[in-house]
Amino acid sequence: MDPTTNLTHRTIFTRGGTQRYVGRFAPSPSGPLHSGSLATALASWLDARAHEGRWLVRIEDVDTDRCDPSWVPVILEQLARCGLQADAEPVWQSQRSHLYESALDQLSEQGQLYACGCSRHDIRLACQHLSSSHATSEGGETPYTGTCRDLGLATGNGRAIRVRCGSSFQPLSLTWEDRRLGLQHQNLTQQVGDFVLKRRDGLWAYQLAVVVDDAEQGITHVVRGEDLYSNTARQIHLQHLLSYPMLRYLHAPLVLDEQHRKLSKHTGAPAIAVNSTAAVMSALRNATEALQLGLPDEVWRRQSIGDALATAVKVWRQQWNPMA
Ligand code: GLU
Repeated sequence: MDPTTNLTHRTIFTRGGTQRYVGRFAPSPSGPLHSGSLATALASWLDARAHEGRWLVRIEDVDTDRCDPSWVPVILEQLARCGLQADAEPVWQSQRSHLYESALDQLSEQGQLYACGCSRHDIRLACQHLSSSHATSEGGETPYTGTCRDLGLATGNGRAIRVRCGSSFQPLSLTWEDRRLGLQHQNLTQQVGDFVLKRRDGLWAYQLAVVVDDAEQGITHVVRGEDLYSNTARQIHLQHLLSYPMLRYLHAPLVLDEQHRKLSKHTGAPAIAVNSTAAVMSALRNATEALQLGLPDEVWRRQSIGDALATAVKVWRQQWNPMA
């Protein structure tokens, strides 16, 4: 039975509080850390330390076109110099295909998956032809209108694998709470549509890998950049289908460039310098400012890296009230 068919609206208030906190930073090694990715790393580290929890690093290298393994030691060195040490050896998504495969099998047995032969162009055309009731999701992504949903195409042959997300008769819409952004809502059927778990080129999609890994690593809290917040409903949907525990989410502020664009490798953001204590202090100071922690000036003038981080943990704890 399709568990989404008798479901039109789900409100998710994720658990929190009593279970042992496990957080993570999940960089994609497509370049060194820049001030935006350091702010995200710092936010997830501070939240883990403020909860006296564990903090893990996961190398998200499933997209082999974008990732280069030679960046991994650089990223780990930048983190270490900034005092952000993981509590276990990092895991690499490229070595975890067996986990994604078994989650895919589970979803397939539930009748949740189908093969899709549509190109991006086909999807855009289908969306244009559909009535105006089909909204465009935030971020300019074109929702998938379900062209291949009932065709029963065979898998392989350059076809993607999609997971079902409600239907036009019974749209699936989710409401959940983000610790920073408050109550969030997304109509997955209209704003996203059935989404890809395995790409046409055979690579695992981010949505599946991240959900499987968060569950397998026992992650309880996700702290990441605000640019990723619109993925949350997709990830909650997959967690539900796979009977995984729910997570708590906090989407942290982004570091923007002068044109108010998110800093990224694509817009030429420089690597953070970590070759001296002064350089590290300056990188951490910028990151805490981006996170709006408002630490007093003398922290950066008088304290060691370790003491500055300890002060930042205290301020973070006050701000995000981890016991709530
Ligand atoms: N790998 C993603 C990135 O580097 C982060 C994914 C996540 O935190 O869920 O942007």
